[in-house]
Amino acid sequence: MIIQLETGISAERKEKVLSELESRKLKLVDVKTQLNHYLVALGKTDFDLRQIGHLKGIRDIHVVSDTYQLVSKKWKTSSSQIDLGDGIKIGDGNLALMAGPCSIEDEEKTDIIAKFLASQGVSIMRGGVFKPRSSPYSFRGTGIEGLKMFHRICRKYGIRIISEVMQVSQIAEMYDYIDVFQVGARNTQNFNLLDELGKVDKPVLIKRGISGTVDELLQSAEYVFSGGNEKLILCERGIRTYETSSRNTLDLNSVPILKEKSHLPVVVDPSHGIGIRDFVEPMALAAVAAGADGILFEIHQEPEKAASDGAQTLNFEEAMQLVKRTRSLFDLRSSW
Ligand code: PEP
Ligand code: MN
Repeated sequence: MIIQLETGISAERKEKVLSELESRKLKLVDVKTQLNHYLVALGKTDFDLRQIGHLKGIRDIHVVSDTYQLVSKKWKTSSSQIDLGDGIKIGDGNLALMAGPCSIEDEEKTDIIAKFLASQGVSIMRGGVFKPRSSPYSFRGTGIEGLKMFHRICRKYGIRIISEVMQVSQIAEMYDYIDVFQVGARNTQNFNLLDELGKVDKPVLIKRGISGTVDELLQSAEYVFSGGNEKLILCERGIRTYETSSRNTLDLNSVPILKEKSHLPVVVDPSHGIGIRDFVEPMALAAVAAGADGILFEIHQEPEKAASDGAQTLNFEEAMQLVKRTRSLFDLRSSW
């Protein structure tokens, strides 16, 4: 059960609410986000809500029976939206396109990609500087200096930045040079990292774990939300199954399911999802048809020479077509 309190509720009123709830043997978790104040009450809620709903200082109250609460649509029925300023929005009626190289490389290459994105009206650039690689001998990113350069270039073109944070110490290091923190599939259940991202006032995109369920993704999002940060985006990026003909199995079932279970925006990463360049666009279109709020995909001016993930990376011509087609499908979907 979620009880939303008036922000700035007096100590006296709060005490009254707490004692009423505690007398019903509910376990209470006090959640203060950057926007709101909630009590998450766990336990049996088989009493008439009106018995507590009348108490002064309560703004709203709902029974949510899921393992996640604040990210549930049973709590908030309207879609949440992330506003990155200058009209750049994710969720609730917008198609957010986020594109860029798997890894940020040198300044010249980064500039060419950012300029290309700006020419296509794509206003969010993705690129990793701390790369989680299966082999320790693979390219592991340009680090914080690469992020500073990436930031300089994106600011020049008015583009927002999303990049992966791999550990708690990188949050502060990256903070000034980033617009959205990405939690990678290997870190979806790094609960210390999620707790710390709850304290940050910038949006967080959480990818689904490689072998994570939909509910586990929602519980990971709940960590960040209950830690204080409501600005969340969920990302389906494929899961590991017995199938070997593609890099991962892009589970597009999760899109309508997540949209039904949660009020958070849902984006899809078809690049890691299928891992095969020629099939990235059809899977992006399928994701839009399934109800995705955005697409996160990899591009590079010379995918064959990309420092990582070239085989699933689109060249500019392919990217132009994906941008055009996903937008027109989104417009069609919006008219349905
Ligand atoms: C990435 O987006 O570059 C990445 C490493 O993705 P994932 O965490 O989904 O593997
Ligand atoms: Mn990649």
